[in-house]
Amino acid sequence: MAAHSPVLILLGPPGAGKGTQARMLEEDFGLVQLSTGDMLRAAVAAGTEAGKRAKAVMEAGQLVSDDIVLAILKDRMAQPDLSKGIILDGFPRTDGQAAALDGLLAANAQKVTAAISLEVDDEAMVGRVSGRYTCAKCGEGYHDEFKLPAHAGVCDKCGGTDMKRRADDNAETVRERLKAYHDQTAPLIAYYDGKGVLQKIDAMGSIGDIRKALGAIVGGVSA
Ligand code: ADP
Ligand code: ZN
Repeated sequence: MAAHSPVLILLGPPGAGKGTQARMLEEDFGLVQLSTGDMLRAAVAAGTEAGKRAKAVMEAGQLVSDDIVLAILKDRMAQPDLSKGIILDGFPRTDGQAAALDGLLAANAQKVTAAISLEVDDEAMVGRVSGRYTCAKCGEGYHDEFKLPAHAGVCDKCGGTDMKRRADDNAETVRERLKAYHDQTAPLIAYYDGKGVLQKIDAMGSIGDIRKALGAIVGGVSA
């Protein structure tokens, strides 16, 4: 990654819209979404050693250990396609991960450009997460109530018809994930505020409104 490329972090509980918005920022700004959740799910699907260790933890709604997550993220960040900058989605999630990220970036004369906290009501997240599903082919996200494809069962983006739901997207596990967020991840809001890079946005509005609010922030720090 070039030294001046933006490094953006999306903070927010499960269901806040980090993944949806990160994909839109890819489209709007040419940034690359780095989702540790996606990377971990790929490791689980591939049956790697890390995936085997992560599977039960993820299904319980708890956080995978820092060593596993950091190993996976470092590998990904070493790849050559990140020149326009990155959006970290679901990382860092602990103070140890935040410190490790700072170290990783510093080694490349970089630092976090902005940490954007998507502010939402917890209770609404249970409904958002329980109703969501994605296109297996291209990863586009949908929701039973809030974002249906134009034609039922057919992906708007790629025409795929194989839709999948995550094993951890059920009401019970979401509550566990919300708890993990508040206990272990929410303290990072103050951490980034202390570094002067925190931005908060109201993420209870429509996907389009949030996209605009994020675009205004990201447009100011990229290009
Ligand atoms: P969400 O933000 O909706 O919970 P993610 O796809 O980001 O969804 O994460 C799903 C699960 O993957 C988490 O509940 C956790 O078990 C694991 N995970 C993802 N990213 C991390 C991380 N940075 N540190 C620890 N565990 C992680
Ligand atoms: Zn698709």
